[in-house]
Amino acid sequence: MLGNIFHTMNNRRLRSTPIPGTRDDYTGIDFNLGFHVRSYHLDINYRVGPNNLSGIATLHLDNWKPLASMTLDLAPSMRVTRITAQGSAGHTVKVARFRQSGGKLRITFAQEIPVDSEFSLAIRYAGTPRPIRSPWGDIGWEELENGALVASQPIGAPSWFPCDDTPDEKALYEIVVTTDNPHVVAVNGSLVSKKTAGSCTTWHYRVGHPMASYLATVQIGEYIQLGLSAPGDIPVRAWVPAELRESAREEFADQARMLALYTELFGPYPFNSYSVIVTEDELEIPLEAQGLSVFGSNHIQGDRTWERLIAHELSHQWFGNSLGLAQWNDIWLNEGFACYSEWLWFEHSAGRPADDSAREHYDELAAEPQDLIISDPGPRDMFDDRVYKRGALTVHALRVLLGDAPFFRMLRRYVAAGAHSVVEPVDLKREVLLEAATLEIPEQEVKDLWRAWLHQPELPRFPEPRG
Ligand SMILES: [Zn+2]
Repeated sequence: MLGNIFHTMNNRRLRSTPIPGTRDDYTGIDFNLGFHVRSYHLDINYRVGPNNLSGIATLHLDNWKPLASMTLDLAPSMRVTRITAQGSAGHTVKVARFRQSGGKLRITFAQEIPVDSEFSLAIRYAGTPRPIRSPWGDIGWEELENGALVASQPIGAPSWFPCDDTPDEKALYEIVVTTDNPHVVAVNGSLVSKKTAGSCTTWHYRVGHPMASYLATVQIGEYIQLGLSAPGDIPVRAWVPAELRESAREEFADQARMLALYTELFGPYPFNSYSVIVTEDELEIPLEAQGLSVFGSNHIQGDRTWERLIAHELSHQWFGNSLGLAQWNDIWLNEGFACYSEWLWFEHSAGRPADDSAREHYDELAAEPQDLIISDPGPRDMFDDRVYKRGALTVHALRVLLGDAPFFRMLRRYVAAGAHSVVEPVDLKREVLLEAATLEIPEQEVKDLWRAWLHQPELPRFPEPRG
C-alpha cells in the first residue's frame, strides 16, 4: 500500500484546479514552485532548558520545471549553515549558494537541474525556535514550562524545519528527535525505535501516509502513557502529566467509542493509531495534527466539559488530515464536517438529534451579521465561528436533502475517494449529485442548495425534508 500511495499521491500537485498564481491569497506567502518534496527526513536535537534546536533536514525532491534556483519556507530564527545536494541517475546536482530572507531559504544551483530530475538536499540548521507571528496568533514550535509543542495551522511549520509549506503538498516523513531524559517525545506516525544514550533518548517515528507540513508535530514533556482502547482496535493513547492521570481517564473515557462511531459513519480510521497529548501548560484551544491532538491541562477537568472538542479533534483525522485541503479558502470542508461530527456524536451517545443541534446553531447564526461567504471567507475570518457552524449546517442540509442512508453512503464514498489526498468542494458536490440522481432529486435542487449555503452571505431557510 505504501509504495502505491507514494507513487500515486506524491508525483503531482494534488489539487484539481490550477495553481492560483504565484502567491497564496490567504497566507500572503509566495508558493515554492517547480518541484515536489516527496519525503522529509528530519533528524533534530532539542535541548529543553535552553530551548535550542539543531538538525539536518533531508528532503527528497523531484522537479516539474527546470530549476536554476528554488525556495523553501524557513523562519529566520532557524539559521542554515550548510546544504549538500545529491542527484540521481547520473545527474550531478550542486548547490552554488544559499541565503535566507523574508521567511524563505533561497537556493541557487551550480547548474540548472533538468526537468523531471530526482535529487535530495541535506540542510543543516540550528537556532532558538519560537512561534511565528501571524494574523491567526503565534503558531509553530512553542517552548513550554517543561518541554515543547508544535501546532502549526496554517503557517507554523517553518518555525522548526525547512519545508514547502502549503496544504496541498503532502509528503512522507521520518522524524527523529533526540532530547534530554526523562522527557517523552510524541510525534505523528509510528514509533520505529527508541534508544537511550547517556542523558538523552532518541525517538524515531515514521509517517507512512502523506502529510501536509502544517500537520507535522513534535510534542515534548514529562508525560506518562495511558491506553484508551480495547485490544485489537486501532490503538488509542493519551500522553499526560502524571498528576492528571485520573482526570484524563475520565475526560477521555469515550475516546475509543467516538472512534468506533466515526469509523461506522465515515469509513475506516485513516491512520495507524490515535494519540491525545495533554500539556502541563494551559492552552487556549485544542489543536489537531495528523494522528494526534493536543489539549491543555485546562481542558482536563474530569467532568466532561470538553467532550464536544474531544469529538471535534478526532473527526479531523478524516476531515482535514486524510482528506486535506487544496487551498485555505476551503477551510469549511475541515471545520464544517468537524463541527457536524460533534452533533453526530451527541446524536449517538446522548440521543440528541443532530437536527436539534442544527436548529440551536441556526438560531444563533440568524442573530449574527450575515456578511460572510463561507466558501471564501477571507483570511481574517477563516477561523470565524460562523464558518464552522454554517459549514456544519451545510452538511446538515445535504443530509436532510438526501435522507439518512443515502447521505451516509455518499459521505463514505467521498471519504474513501479522497483518502490521503486533498479534496475540493467540487469533489463533495460530485458525490452529492451522483446520490441525488439515484434518488431522482433534480440536479437543480442540489445546485440551489450549494449556492445558497456556500456562495451567498444571507442565511438560507432552515433545512426541511423535501415536500
Ligand atoms: Zn477544528
